[in-house]
Order: sequence, then C-alpha cells, then structure tokens
Amino acid sequence: MLMTASQYTNSLRKLNRVVYLFGEKVDSVVDHPVIRPSLNAVAMTYSLAHRPEYQELMTVTSPLTGRRINRFTHIHQSTDDLVKKSKMGRLLGSLTGCCFQRCVGMDALNALSITTCALDARGGTEYNRRFLKYLEYVQTGFTTCDGAMTDPKGDRSLPPHAQADPDSYLRIVERRADGIVVRGAKAHQTGAVNSHEIIVMPTVAMREEDRDYAVAFAVPSDAPGITYILGRQSCDTRKLEGETFDRGNLFFGGHEALIVFDDVFVPQERVFLCGEHEFTGGLVEQFASYHRQSYACKVGVGDVLIGAAQTAAEFNGIATASHIRDKIIEMNHLNETLYCGCIACAAEGHREAGGTYMVDTLLANVHKQNITRFPYEIARIAQDIAGGLLVTLPSEKDLKAPETGRWIEKYCRGKAGIPVEHRMRILRLIENLTMGTAAVGYLTESMHGAGSPQAQRIMIARGVNMEAKKAVAKRLCGIPEK
Ligand code: SF4
Ligand code: FE
Repeated sequence: MLMTASQYTNSLRKLNRVVYLFGEKVDSVVDHPVIRPSLNAVAMTYSLAHRPEYQELMTVTSPLTGRRINRFTHIHQSTDDLVKKSKMGRLLGSLTGCCFQRCVGMDALNALSITTCALDARGGTEYNRRFLKYLEYVQTGFTTCDGAMTDPKGDRSLPPHAQADPDSYLRIVERRADGIVVRGAKAHQTGAVNSHEIIVMPTVAMREEDRDYAVAFAVPSDAPGITYILGRQSCDTRKLEGETFDRGNLFFGGHEALIVFDDVFVPQERVFLCGEHEFTGGLVEQFASYHRQSYACKVGVGDVLIGAAQTAAEFNGIATASHIRDKIIEMNHLNETLYCGCIACAAEGHREAGGTYMVDTLLANVHKQNITRFPYEIARIAQDIAGGLLVTLPSEKDLKAPETGRWIEKYCRGKAGIPVEHRMRILRLIENLTMGTAAVGYLTESMHGAGSPQAQRIMIARGVNMEAKKAVAKRLCGIPEK
C-alpha cells in the first residue's frame, strides 16, 4: 500500500532536524506557516498517487521489488517512463502552481544508477550493489529524497582544492574503515526540510587534486551535524499574517535552504562515489540533463498563470478585445512550445548500461534554455493583462475594514456581477506567480535551477554535430571535401 499524504506528513514529524528561519530555531518544521505550504506541495505527490485517474502517471511497478511504487522513486526503464515523468511534472505544476520539490531526488537516484554501474565496470568496487540496496530502502519506505548538488563554490575561477576556504565545496575530511566524515554545504536546496533523505553529489567535473571533493552519498535528513537555514522569499511574511488571500496561492509554495554539513558521518554502505574524480563530470551531466527535463513543472505552473490571466481579463471586462485574445494565444504558444521540449527529450531517450533510460542530452538542454526565457515572457504578458492594480491593490484587511471596505467595493470594481473580492484574489495569485513566493519557482528558479543559462549553452554547443551540418552545406553548394 502506498504512503498517504497524511502518513508522509506524520513521518516528517518524527525527524529530529535542526532548522533555522528568520534567525530562530524552528520547533515544529511541519507546522510552521512559512514552511507548511511547501510541505503541502510535496504531499500532493503522495495524494495524487492514490487517485485512480493518475495511477499510470504517478505510480509504476518497481523492477527491483515487484511492488507498486511512487514514480518519484523509480528508475526509468523505457522512453515511455521518461515521457510519463514529463507529464507527471506538468500535472503537479498545474495543480499546485509552484515547485513541488520532489524531482531532485528522483533525478539523483537515476543519475547514480548510471554512474555506479560505470564505476563498477572498472572492477574492484561495489557501488552499484550499495546503490540498489539503498534504492530498495527508498522505494519500500516511500521516501522523499533531496538531491543536493550545488556547492557554495567561493571564487568561481578556482577549482575546489584551490579555494581560500577548503569547505567552499563539500569534501571528505576523514576516511574511516566504517565510512567517511564530510564537511561543507549545499546551497539553494529545494524541498530540503520536506525530505527524509539527502543525496549528495559533486557539483563540477573534478581533477586528481580534487579527489577529496569527489564524493556522492546519502544520509538521513536528521543525521547529526546537519543544519538547515531556510532562504527568504519575496512576500514570505504574508504567510505569517493568518489565512489572508493576500498570500495569492492559499495552499502551496516551495522553499530552498542552505544545508550545512558540519563533520557528518556517512556509513560505508551509503557512499556511492569516493575519490573517483574522473566520474564526477559524467554524474553532473546525467543529473543536470535529468533535472533539465524535470522543468516540465514550469509548463504546469504556466497553465495556472495563463488561467489566471484569462480570468483577470474577464473580470476586467476586456477578455474579448482582440489584443487580449492575441496575448493569451501568445502565452499558450510559448507554454506549449516548452511542453514540446520536455516531451521530445524524453521520447528521444536511450538505454544506458544497467538498463536505466537517459533523456536526450541535447534536447534536455534546449528545453531548459527555453525555460530560462519563456516563463519571463509569459509573466510579462500576464502583468500586462492584469493591469497596474496588480501592484497597487489594498490588502484583504482593507477590504474587510468598514471604513475602507466600502470605498474598495466601489472603486476596485471591474465587470458588473464579479465580486470585488474575486478580482482581488485573482490579482493576488498573478502577483504571487510573477513577483511573490511562487515567482521564485516560476522565474528565478527557471533561470538558475538545474544550472544557469550558460551551462546549457555549453552543452548545446557540445551536443550538436557541427561537422555533419558543414558537410551537407558544402556538398549542396559544390564545395569539395578535402
Ligand atoms: Fe521539480 Fe520543478 Fe521544483 Fe525542480 S523546480 S524540484 S523540477 S518542481
Ligand atoms: Fe529546481
């Protein structure tokens, strides 16, 4: 039987984690009003798996255990699995309107399934056996994993070993017979405090001198020595104002955290890469490509924003104006173009040694490059349609206060028959998606998550077959080959 959303929530209560927010230690992470919407979003990955209409997308039979599991813990066995992964991302984005956080762990598991096979193919190691044992633990425990890749990085011009502070990249500080001790941090960690497990991977391709930094492992999220410091988000304190609709999205949100590893012990069985620097580049590339595919999520969030913009246009009485219709078409065109990319890189996937299916790397990078751009244009059009009231709107409290409420009722009215409160609510949702807490996920995360735009451009340059293109061009116009 799959884990339910409430069982998931209760399982997080049992974890003993050190979490800080606004300079204070958080007593109950699960119940904190700023964090809770992000937990609700992850909980949707559990609750949808119980809905008959989403069984095919959200669940799959594990080839490892033969049991029905959540797709977020699955190792892709076909291009059909990869396509379903993209569709699942869009579905969840379209139902939550935010980042639902669980993809990073799924992408880490799939990347490690490939890299541990490659490592063991040289002989003398048993990383894949360890990994499969860990995977079984994750699948049978219905575990949410955080995939942690990004190090703080210090001076970007220097490799890990040459940094002024040697902890700028997470590293092994002690090798013991029973495991390793690690020190450092992982930054921008999506869904960190909603995870049972943290899977750590290196963030760049490394050389021999960096071998202490070439490390991949998994630890329980409440392992001794781990501290979480949650990031601030624009308008986050609105969540402390009670149940007001000024939050925009009343149910869901995302979060990111800085995870500090202060001499954390990792048992040998949970170490999946330990000093083999020549495998770091491949692992980074696999995780990045999978996660670039995962940005199918933004197509779903785009669905919400387009729906909100159309509703705002109707509430303003301008929905039939030809320029508004054309702008809505443009938003849909951009959003469906994004969808093409995440489906294409999945459909063009291939089998790796060990049986794991990998997305087409070139197309995954093209998809993510589009994601760094189109949501900004979709958001710009949404703000255009919404009008200036989007940023000058009084609060819900002003609407409810007798002295001001009557003026707001009179002067914030749009089309006849539409309650002023409804107009305010839809504008708050657009604000949330384009400037508030959800804009972290829809815009800045689209820019920098799974790698900043330049990282994709490097991969695009590497992935295209330029010689073949040149050869055809020359042949068609009669330039002889040398
Ligand atoms: Fe998943 Fe998208 Fe959030 Fe990344 S940004 S964890 S792909 S929902
Ligand atoms: Fe992300």
